[in-house]
Amino acid sequence: MREPSSRPELIDTHAHLQDEKFHEDLPEVLQRAAAAGVSRIVTIATTALDSAVCIALARQHTLLSATVGLQPNNLAQEPPTAWDEVLRLVESPGVVGIGETGLDRHWDFTSFAQQEDYFARHLELARRYHLPLVIHCREADADVVRMLREDYERHGPVRGVMHSFAGDAATAAACLAMGLYISFAGMVTYKNAQDLRDVAKTVPLDRLLVETDSPYLAPVPVRGRRNEPAFVAHTLACLASVTGQLPEVLGAQTSSNARRFFGLPG
Ligand SMILES: [Zn+2]
Repeated sequence: MREPSSRPELIDTHAHLQDEKFHEDLPEVLQRAAAAGVSRIVTIATTALDSAVCIALARQHTLLSATVGLQPNNLAQEPPTAWDEVLRLVESPGVVGIGETGLDRHWDFTSFAQQEDYFARHLELARRYHLPLVIHCREADADVVRMLREDYERHGPVRGVMHSFAGDAATAAACLAMGLYISFAGMVTYKNAQDLRDVAKTVPLDRLLVETDSPYLAPVPVRGRRNEPAFVAHTLACLASVTGQLPEVLGAQTSSNARRFFGLPG
């Protein structure tokens, strides 16, 4: 039996606790996270409205920090005032990042031109406020790398993370070369994800982050259930075995990375 003190420290760098799936039991969800060793959860905004909700949640719950931003798939449905609302909220207490933003060719809810326009706006906002950028990339790796490289060549490295990374080794290498962090979610634990585990091995340990993307895509062995921050322990355990580290060691490393990335205390 392991002593409780040897339980790895965990930071869930990407969850959507404002999602309606948590409306009824968020306090219990947060208790289970704390009991699993989670010392902080960043609840990630996807619309102007839920940016405000993320900030309110961070005010109510000491375990939570928030971001503000507009997820690319939601842009077409946002009111015209949405971007002004993000600008109004960016300096609120509890805000530790910008996003999630990025590009998505899997869904076509939003025109690609509009996605590119808002990805550029989020990049500029992150630089202006010296806040880290949370990047969503789905089936748009070449486009995301292209836009990040244009920005990098003009302005130098930006503090950013490729969240729920699902790309190939070349995409990871291109992002790492620009100074970005790579974050893995539950997908890396899936039986058919050996390619992704091989990519995870190539990420320097000081650029690695771990997340749940709750309530989506719960890791093995809780796959199929509503995902929640406590389950980040399973993804960490998988990454520890992939990288040949003890979970306690990798937990301390990824938590230290998350604190540095988001500018968290402690
Ligand atoms: Zn997300």
